[in-house]
Amino acid sequence: MNTRIETSIAARNVQRALPITDRGPRATYYIWTIGCQMNRADARRAAAALEALGYQPAGHADDADLIIVNSCVVRQSAEDKVVGRLHSLRALKKGRPGTAVVLMGCLVGDLDALRARFPHVDHFVRPSDVEGLAAWVEANLPSPLRGEGTGARGESPSPSAEVPAMMGCDRHCTYCLVRLRRGPGRSRAPEEIVAEAAELIRGGAREIVLLGQNIDAYGRDLPGRPSLAELLRRVHDIPGLARLRFLTSHPADLSDEVIQAVAELPKVCSHWELPVQSGDDEVLRRMGRGYTAAEFLALVERIRARLPESSIATDVIVGFPGETAEQFEHTLDLLRAAHMDAVHVACYSVRPGTPAARLTDDVPPEEKERRRQAVEALQEEIVDEINARLLGQEVEVLVEEMHKGKWKGRTATNKLVFFTHPADWRGRLATVRITKTGPWSLQGEVCG
Ligand code: SAM
Repeated sequence: MNTRIETSIAARNVQRALPITDRGPRATYYIWTIGCQMNRADARRAAAALEALGYQPAGHADDADLIIVNSCVVRQSAEDKVVGRLHSLRALKKGRPGTAVVLMGCLVGDLDALRARFPHVDHFVRPSDVEGLAAWVEANLPSPLRGEGTGARGESPSPSAEVPAMMGCDRHCTYCLVRLRRGPGRSRAPEEIVAEAAELIRGGAREIVLLGQNIDAYGRDLPGRPSLAELLRRVHDIPGLARLRFLTSHPADLSDEVIQAVAELPKVCSHWELPVQSGDDEVLRRMGRGYTAAEFLALVERIRARLPESSIATDVIVGFPGETAEQFEHTLDLLRAAHMDAVHVACYSVRPGTPAARLTDDVPPEEKERRRQAVEALQEEIVDEINARLLGQEVEVLVEEMHKGKWKGRTATNKLVFFTHPADWRGRLATVRITKTGPWSLQGEVCG
């Protein structure tokens, strides 16, 4: 799961809110979200729960009765942004003491420490605990008038809707805080996932993205152990669905059964988010990843043998404790060999409480940055070459939105495509002939 997203749930109806103490019928909320797709899904689900309680979205935090900061701590830089945001709310809260402030997400660990550090925060909600958030709001904030909420529970703000299949994580990667904050892996029942996806599709979604930190572990904790492949089949059959995606795959857990299901189910996109993290066996071992570089490359080959059109994206961490220049070269070697469609690369960031935090963070920041840039430069060359092969080809694009005067959408292989056309293409599948390619996006024109 990549962690570059910073979003807010903005208003469809912007109203100046009254302070919460003497609130009229239009109690409003504002959600600020940073982090991975799971956080974005949590924000969407929190918004739906609040709207079911009668809240309406505010256009800006200054206008809201209830402000939710949905946090990420996967790297220090994300945590710093969250802390900055919380500090800025201190002044807002001083001016408008009736505003309720809730901190949700992966910063929510030791509650006593958080209460002492952020006394202006009224409540803390653990990641994904949307039910807990709704229960607290109902019990502690005056009820807004019902029946004026703008959103049905399943209204989808985008043609592509993310649905958590699994909460938490069942892996023990030594650098990662996610399991410590989100808890062990917990699968949702297939019926619950299908019901949520069906509601989103009725609300306008065309694509469903099933989420899990290690989606291949789906179902292992449920009665009858339904597999990810079975879940894909069930969601695939929902009427009105155009596309189905899933992420994140774990190289040690991805099964041939899932590869087979993707090959058999036409709406499932053959796009794989398959984090490798390093190309060096010793670093992989110390990261606790559970596979070798050769095993990873063999898996990539197995996917491509069955599904030659696949696109594969990966995550890489550079500068893990003790990573030598030679070990880093092994990562570049692996990226050259695997020839992947995207690489999300990050400098190692010490996360207190993780096993790796006990190791010496001995790669200097300038060297981490040098390695990060080397990965970016290599990957740019690789993806430029991969994308150039699409020139003149026709691709099917699910159109998401208008962006700077152009329609923006994605191919099944997750390539970003822009085109201009007078018709309203939002949420529709367009056949586009590619006229220009580059490493980050493609340009084209609608066929026919
Ligand atoms: N579950 C996925 C996996 O198997 O790796 C991804 C989880 S994590 C939320 C998303 C990405 O953040 C990881 O793939 C990793 O590259 C990055 N990440 C996690 N911990 C990190 C750390 N301490 N420093 C730098 N990057 C980190």
